[in-house]
Amino acid sequence: RPKRGPNFLEEIIAQDLEDGVVQEVVTRFPPEPNGYLHIGHAKSICLNFGLAEKFGGRCNLRFDDTNPAKEDQEYVEAIQEDVRWLGFQWDRLCFASDYFDQFYRWAQELVQKGLAYVDFQTPEEIRRTRGTLTEIGVESPYRDTPPEENLRLLERMRNGEFEEGQCVLRAKIDMKSPNLNMRDPVIYRILKRPHHRTGDRWCIYPMYDFAHGYEDAIEGVTHSICTLEFQDHRPLYDWFLDNVSVPHRPRQYEFARLNLSHTVMSKRKLLELVESRIVSGWDDPRMPTISGLRRRGYTPSSIRRFCDEIGVAKADSLVDVELLQHCLREELNKTAPRRMAVLNPLKLTIVNWPEGHIDLVEAENNPEDPSAGTRPLPFGRDLYIEAEDFMVSPPKGYFRLFPGSEVRLKHGYLVRYVDHREEDGRVVEVLVEADLESRGGEAPDGRRIKGTLHWVNAHHCVPITARLYDHLFTLRDMSRMEEGKDYKDYLNPSSLVEVKGLGEESLRDAEPLAGIQFLRHGYFCLDPSSTREELIFNRSVPLKDSWAK
Ligand code: ATP
Ligand code: MG
Ligand code: MG
Repeated sequence: RPKRGPNFLEEIIAQDLEDGVVQEVVTRFPPEPNGYLHIGHAKSICLNFGLAEKFGGRCNLRFDDTNPAKEDQEYVEAIQEDVRWLGFQWDRLCFASDYFDQFYRWAQELVQKGLAYVDFQTPEEIRRTRGTLTEIGVESPYRDTPPEENLRLLERMRNGEFEEGQCVLRAKIDMKSPNLNMRDPVIYRILKRPHHRTGDRWCIYPMYDFAHGYEDAIEGVTHSICTLEFQDHRPLYDWFLDNVSVPHRPRQYEFARLNLSHTVMSKRKLLELVESRIVSGWDDPRMPTISGLRRRGYTPSSIRRFCDEIGVAKADSLVDVELLQHCLREELNKTAPRRMAVLNPLKLTIVNWPEGHIDLVEAENNPEDPSAGTRPLPFGRDLYIEAEDFMVSPPKGYFRLFPGSEVRLKHGYLVRYVDHREEDGRVVEVLVEADLESRGGEAPDGRRIKGTLHWVNAHHCVPITARLYDHLFTLRDMSRMEEGKDYKDYLNPSSLVEVKGLGEESLRDAEPLAGIQFLRHGYFCLDPSSTREELIFNRSVPLKDSWAK
């Protein structure tokens, strides 16, 4: 694959360094601790940490924790774990809530300069008088309160003398601006709630647009990278920074967010899936969260590789989840040990094999990696094969077992159909005869055998539970739901299918989350909730690669 050239952000930064606009690159990844990180955040993480790394700079992890209503310490911890797991180490761990005093002083500075005022209109009035794209806004009757009076009112807001919703602090910019964000945006609102870090020290909290640039300024961030929907907020970002004395002047740049097929990524929706128990938790393997992908069997390197593949652009697009799966499959193909497991067992008896006799055949652990060695597998008279691997009257082109056919049992022997038994119209056992000269799976006379089946020994196997996953939503592009429909209307009823199967005994030693290939079924990993009594394997990704290269 030809290596991609620098992306537009790399070009900007290289230029800034060359021109001496900045001496050192400082970026940040700024999550709000109101949910778990998802694959979209991974893109932002790879980008911000990647840019710092590439240009010898620094990247901070900063919690944008300015809204106590939805934030929680649980999220603060989960986010750090996920960033570390992805393989990144932040320079500084920062919290926007540590800057509340400084934010307040800058708000006072704006008020003193006549650039902010306390507005006592109702939230509804403020919304209505803001206007629309086709209709200019109407100035508030409180807009011309003198600065000294506003300073006192702001102080009283801070002291808790007003109720929630009774008043807000607004920037005094331009109610006629074609950019709605510039029509006297709210800077502070009253929220009489404890904050997970500042307790009840504050009852007014800053709005995102007001706080974000100041956070960057305090931390010396040079390139503040955010998603495209903040492009229209950039004039406001600049306005706040230009109208008070800040220690440093950051710049905002926007890139296209990641949208992935067959899923949603809004934290509100993900939280709703968790709270309504549609999924088992934030780390349900069907979730697009980092913790869900981890439990599904994704590796940090496969996710980073995916972020690399999708690149950085300035226009929104939808990426097929198959590309993500492809990245994992390619990696596991090289690294995952092969094992045999039968997910829908059917008894297979070798009639000419002596009862109780075991032949330890040799099975390679990974054909892609000879250094992975081999393991002994106990071949014997009583085996299980996949029920789908036998048909009484097969269609044309079926090369597995059927009356008259001969197949290879992987790593074992060639066997030929002899008979089968049915109960209530269902096949319950297949009887075969082995070619005892075909140990290892090759016919002594060189006859060609097309079908190869996987199997387990009935006396040397472990019961397993396999969880087979499919898309959480049936619609490919969840931003294009039908009029009047809710995202939950598109839930896939078969996003999780659980089956009880049998696997080779070595599966008892499987490490939680480590990738294993079950021959012909795909890549799996042991779910961390497994016990000695119940081994649960999550299918990370099936074998077939539908991703067109
Ligand atoms: P939500 O709107 O669901 O709350 P958010 O974007 O507000 O999500 P944040 O915690 O604020 O979530 O996100 C932290 C950082 O991750 C932001 O800089 C944001 O731009 C980036 N980010 C979030 N979602 C995506 C995405 N889908 N693709 C790329 N970057 C993203
Ligand atoms: Mg948000
Ligand atoms: Mg956000």
